[in-house]
Amino acid sequence: MLEITPAGLALAKTLKTMGITNQSVLDVMAKTPRHWFVDEAFSHQAWENTALPIGQGQTISQPYIVAKMTELLLESNPQHILEVGTGSGYQTTVLSQLVASVCTIERIKNLKFQARRKLNRLDCHNVSCKHGDGWQGWQTKGPFDAIIVTAAASSVPEALLDQLKEGGRLVIPVGDTEQMLKVVTRDTTGFISRTIETVRFVPLINGELA
Ligand code: SAH
Repeated sequence: MLEITPAGLALAKTLKTMGITNQSVLDVMAKTPRHWFVDEAFSHQAWENTALPIGQGQTISQPYIVAKMTELLLESNPQHILEVGTGSGYQTTVLSQLVASVCTIERIKNLKFQARRKLNRLDCHNVSCKHGDGWQGWQTKGPFDAIIVTAAASSVPEALLDQLKEGGRLVIPVGDTEQMLKVVTRDTTGFISRTIETVRFVPLINGELA
C-alpha cells in the first residue's frame, strides 16, 4: 500500500500550481515512488519536476507531463486502457492506480522485464506487459477505452485508431523536431483531433524491436 510522502506532497503542490486539477491524479503522483524508476545516480532528483534517464538511452518524462497526459486520458472515464512505451513503468504504475486494467507495450526487452519486476513489487496486478511494437497496438486485448503513447510518433498510427472504442480517446505526442501533444477522440462519425501543447519525447520507433 503506497502512502503520500512529504516529497510527494511538495511535487503535487508544484503540479497544482502548474495547472493540474484532477485531485486523484495529484494524490497518485504524490504516493508513487518515482525514485524506484529512475537511474540510481539520479534518484536524489526523482521528486523534482524534471525528465530523467531510465537506462537504454531512454528517459522518464517530467512529472508535469505525466500528470497532464493522465488527466487528459481520464476525462472520458476509461476503465480498460493501452499504454505504448512502458519505459521504466512509472507512468504505468500511476495509471494502474486510476483505472481497472492497463495493457502496456515496450520495444526494449530489458526495460519490459525491469518494469514488470517493479510493477509486481508494487502489487500492480491489473497490468499486462508485452514486449512488442506499439505501432501495431495490442489487437487481442482491444478495443480500448483510451490509449496513451509516451514516445513521439511521426504520424498517428492507424492501428491505434482502429483499437479505440467509440467515445474513446488517444493521447499522443506527434512530430519529429517539433512535437505537439494531441488528443484524438473517436465519435460516431470519425475522429476529432485537438492540440494541447508543445512537448519533447524520445521517438516512437517503427517496426524494429530491441
Ligand atoms: N512512460 C515511460 C517513459 C517512456 S520513454 C516511463 O514512465 O518511464 C519511451 C519509451 O517508448 C521507451 O522506453 C522506448 O523504448 C519505447 N518505445 C519507442 N518506440 C516504441 C514502440 N514502437 N513500441 C513500444 N515501445 C516503444
